[in-house]
Amino acid sequence: MVLSEIWQDFLKIVHEEVGSRVVETWLKAVTLAEWDPEHKTVYVKAPNAFVKEWIQNNYVPLFQLHLGRLLHVVDPRIIILGATEQKQVVKSASFGSIIPAQRTTNTGAVEKVNYPVVKQPISHVKLNPAYRFDTFVVGPNNSLAYAAAHAVVEDPGKLYSPLFIYGGSGLGKTHLLHAIGNALQEKESGMNVLYQTADRFVNEFINAIRFNKFHKFQQKYRDLDALLIDDVQFFSGKEQTQESFFHIFNILHDSHKQIVLSSDIFPRQIEGLAERLRSRLEWGLVTDIHKPPLETKIAILKKKAATHGETLDDKIAEYIAHYAESNVRELEGSLIRILAYVSLTKQPLSFEIVQKVLSGKQTQKKEKESALDFNAIADAVCQHYSYRLVDLRSTSRAKELSLVRQIAMYLMKKMTGKSLREIGTFLGRKDHSTVIHAFDKIHKSVQTDTRLRSTLEHLEETILR
Ligand code: ADP
Ligand code: MG
Repeated sequence: MVLSEIWQDFLKIVHEEVGSRVVETWLKAVTLAEWDPEHKTVYVKAPNAFVKEWIQNNYVPLFQLHLGRLLHVVDPRIIILGATEQKQVVKSASFGSIIPAQRTTNTGAVEKVNYPVVKQPISHVKLNPAYRFDTFVVGPNNSLAYAAAHAVVEDPGKLYSPLFIYGGSGLGKTHLLHAIGNALQEKESGMNVLYQTADRFVNEFINAIRFNKFHKFQQKYRDLDALLIDDVQFFSGKEQTQESFFHIFNILHDSHKQIVLSSDIFPRQIEGLAERLRSRLEWGLVTDIHKPPLETKIAILKKKAATHGETLDDKIAEYIAHYAESNVRELEGSLIRILAYVSLTKQPLSFEIVQKVLSGKQTQKKEKESALDFNAIADAVCQHYSYRLVDLRSTSRAKELSLVRQIAMYLMKKMTGKSLREIGTFLGRKDHSTVIHAFDKIHKSVQTDTRLRSTLEHLEETILR
């Protein structure tokens, strides 16, 4: 197959996987420049630095996975070249990472498969030098987590070990973990710090077993001064990995080493986690991150724009902040789209351009919202709390069920904008005042109950997915 065909196939696959927006905005902006089979290296050409950086930070795993399959290699090295950059000769293509591969079955469904062809155990993820404390904007939504992270750097292994940071996706958990890692390393050279994502830890464990390197694996973790594990919800249901992590945890903890963990939910809510590990996770300080309020969003946008050499005026920053609602990653995505557009079309950044670039996104979001129906919300709520729709519709006033029903009502009102009466009818309530009552109650509770708030954020995300 010639490269252009491979590229077309790749775009098709990615289109299915991540949607047209990513393909249209980012992937169609780049070209597959060269495939060097000897060094297992794919060169991708980006038209400018923004696109290059964005692709580099967000889509390399996607390239590795799907181009790898199309080119029949595992884990090709992906090099994104900027407009003026030339291919450099690569010495070694030995990237020790594996990515679970997906394959399309006859029925068209995508099925997870793990490539058995891994030559060496998975390496850990390098610290991202851009994720630092001074590039992190502190607001009321994250100040506690930020302060705790700072305290850890001041006095590793003493006050807060483990430090557990939880919060919805795209709110800065990974950024903070890397910031801790970077700061620790700068503070004491020679400090043995390791950042690893939980899913890679799982793969690493499996490979260590498979390739008879378990001892080496354990040794690597035992020797650390600080261990940062991201997204521990991925430990869910992985009993043997949990067991192995439990031991590593104990060893590090007993010798007063620093452990920092993150998750998208509160440890107690991670299903399929052994009780003894769960309680360990809560031993130190558990702190959460929320969605940023408007002012923080504006501050983040300005700071991010500045790192790209652009200045945002207040009006533009506020406009973007209003558009990208749910998380910082999206906020950043909107900004990068705007900056890429401006740079591609060689126009100055103006309010009109911002409106133009973002309007496409807004329509998509509206469509998604109007297609949202009560069933989708009820499904997500029932799934989360293990109830059935008939329970929600029942007249039972059992305490937990009542709360779950109120949560469903709250989300229906908040997310669909449908009338109280319609919501009442859907849930078999004659009187819509129960819906008002439920909405008020939950609305008030989320102001103070951080756990409930994060559950609701999680539910909203699940529903919109
Ligand atoms: P999470 O791990 O919680 O899903 P990330 O740490 O990956 O989120 O954050 C997503 C993006 O948003 C990153 O690019 C990160 O730098 C940025 N980000 C999140 N919170 C902040 C913040 N408070 N200040 C600056 N950038 C932030
Ligand atoms: Mg993360």
